[in-house]
Amino acid sequence: MSKKSNRCASPVIGRRGFITAASLAGAAALTPSVVAEAMPIAPDPTNKAAAPSKLVADATSSDVELAIRYLVVANRILAHENVVDAYGHVSMRHPLNPEHYLLARSRSPEQVEIGDIVEYTLDGEPINDTRPPYLERFIHGGIYAARPDIHAVVHAHSEEVLPFSISTTKLRPVIHDGAFIGAEVPVWDIADKFGPDTDLLVSNIAQGRDLARRLAGNSMVLMRGHGFAAAAPSLYEVVRLAVYAPKNAHVFQAALLLGGKVKPLSKGEIATRVGGPSLKPDTPAAMRAWEYWARRAGVADLLPPRPGK
Ligand SMILES: [Zn+2]
Repeated sequence: MSKKSNRCASPVIGRRGFITAASLAGAAALTPSVVAEAMPIAPDPTNKAAAPSKLVADATSSDVELAIRYLVVANRILAHENVVDAYGHVSMRHPLNPEHYLLARSRSPEQVEIGDIVEYTLDGEPINDTRPPYLERFIHGGIYAARPDIHAVVHAHSEEVLPFSISTTKLRPVIHDGAFIGAEVPVWDIADKFGPDTDLLVSNIAQGRDLARRLAGNSMVLMRGHGFAAAAPSLYEVVRLAVYAPKNAHVFQAALLLGGKVKPLSKGEIATRVGGPSLKPDTPAAMRAWEYWARRAGVADLLPPRPGK
């Protein structure tokens, strides 16, 4: 499968899309090595004096720098919220080239810094970087190739969702913030196509594409005995999904243990919650969450100033 991404696939979502590649695609043309070019201006994430004020200017090459900063923030948030640990990763489609994506080199999300972000082709080949990549980077490229509407992907091994990857009990959204996982969460069993002797990891592009086929048009796919992959139109939305998916699974399991009948959200409730205007990227409610998570993770200084703040 080599389906090309649509360069005009996703509508702009708000001021910075919090943060979609499409929302930044109007920037001036840059060289393919723009990520590497962004590195010299990268501050130490712990440097409190490095206020990124220039990153709120109109679309310029600094939008790639902004995307990289947000990707670092997303890494730190997911680590601090215990969605990922030593393993797991988050990516976003490249702001200026939808056939590439941005992902850290092989490093635990809690330690990811600006200089760790690498540009990859959808087949998982690094651009101008020789450092070891994540073995499972093919999850990201497989999904971006299959889903032009998707601009950010998370892969994690959260214990809370794992029972649903090996049980006939389907994961459902049961709490309001669980709505983001969607009404249907398919399970991908690597053994179905790749046999009973794999190590369960998505270690080549064929496996990444097969996982993307199982994800289909949904927002989340469980990986049998392994973890999950989540996909969204923006970095903010995929972080939100990944933060609340384990919480939703935890509540679902607790309710099942009570022994009574569990009532999941209805399709109408899911659609209303997900489509509600108050929770779109760049709304005050969305920015409130992003700032809260970033501050807890110690990386709020990497965010641009909030309008009206
Ligand atoms: Zn994994």
